[in-house]
Amino acid sequence: MINSLKDLIENKTLRNLNSNIYRILEKSLSGNEINIEESEALFSTKDDDFDALLNVANHLRNEVNGNIVTYVINRNINFTNVCHMGCRFCNFAKKIDDSDAEWLSIDQIVGRAREAWDRGATEVCIQGGLHPKLPGKFYRDIILNIKKELPSIHIHAFSPFEIWYGAAKNKINYFEYLTDLKECGLGSMPGTAAEILDIKVRNILTKNKLSSDEWIKIIKTAHKVGLKTTSTIMYGHVDKIQNWSNHLFKIREIQKETNGFTEFIPLSFVYKNSPLFHNKNLNVKAGPTDIEILKMHAVSRVFFHKYIDNIQVSWTKLGPKKVQLLLDCGVNDLGGTLMNESISRSAGSQFGQELTAYEMAKIIRSKNKIPAQRDTLYMTKEIFDNHDPKFYEPLVKRSSFEPLKFLN
Ligand code: SF4
Repeated sequence: MINSLKDLIENKTLRNLNSNIYRILEKSLSGNEINIEESEALFSTKDDDFDALLNVANHLRNEVNGNIVTYVINRNINFTNVCHMGCRFCNFAKKIDDSDAEWLSIDQIVGRAREAWDRGATEVCIQGGLHPKLPGKFYRDIILNIKKELPSIHIHAFSPFEIWYGAAKNKINYFEYLTDLKECGLGSMPGTAAEILDIKVRNILTKNKLSSDEWIKIIKTAHKVGLKTTSTIMYGHVDKIQNWSNHLFKIREIQKETNGFTEFIPLSFVYKNSPLFHNKNLNVKAGPTDIEILKMHAVSRVFFHKYIDNIQVSWTKLGPKKVQLLLDCGVNDLGGTLMNESISRSAGSQFGQELTAYEMAKIIRSKNKIPAQRDTLYMTKEIFDNHDPKFYEPLVKRSSFEPLKFLN
């Protein structure tokens, strides 16, 4: 394991690296940013070069985050699964008349937030489908009513797609719309719906209903009004390495301009129930391979070094065993406990609705790292260096999946 740049240079195995990979990794370890072509070279590594990439990502993680791995106690509230956008990869969306169509009332949403708060959540993460009958003031009312009941809870809500929809419904521009939501109590936004910021890929995935330019415009406006957001990539479908590198580059350019991203979250395409995967006319991959997953997290760490400090793993998509592995490949954050996860589950993911804080701590400790609870904006709440988070049963009773059984 590399502990310093000196160790890397003196390490015999790494002396035998492909000279270009050696140069790129050394460049990154010296604190210089790597370019698009260099990130493509890292995505293409094999054998010793690949091992070196993982080691360097781990080294950079340690340099930035030390031995601390964080998580946030939150609850996911997907208030409606009705959506008429028709993204080809999505199995979450239902039609208005489907028997399993759902739309929670404001009171139900507030009730769920209260239940989460009483279980120790500091955040509610709220997203939903673009319901055709959604009143223009619905997003605003969600925020106002939750804040009335729970003034201190952080509301992390509404993807750029929902902001696009809400602003259009209210016939106002993004700046006015986001300023109003912030004044109502919105705390931050998920940077989801980014998928891959490339028109050809978006045409296949989402019919480009929300274009890359609009996504970027909404995100930059959010940052401008003082709302931090996450950043994401959804990969492993019809995409190529070049798309990944270009996407990372666009995210880094935004960060240079606004410094508004709190973290980067690679989201594996969950293929099982996705209509996109079952479309015989398209050559769609069955999600990223295990090697690609490792590379995506490691290259992200290297590429965003000095710009985005937090690389988050999505446990809902990957499960505890891969989470464990990724803690040595650049990842320093496990995201939220979630309590109710439905988007990945409807796509066919089998990793349940909740990882409790106690379970997250066990996973983190299993890699000799120290768990810490954070808030949404990465302020540390408690470091569990010599004690565990309180044990509690998951909110929704599990039928079979037991996360800790899957650990090494
Ligand atoms: S991905 Fe989101 S916007 Fe697209 S169809 Fe599904 S719920 Fe609707």
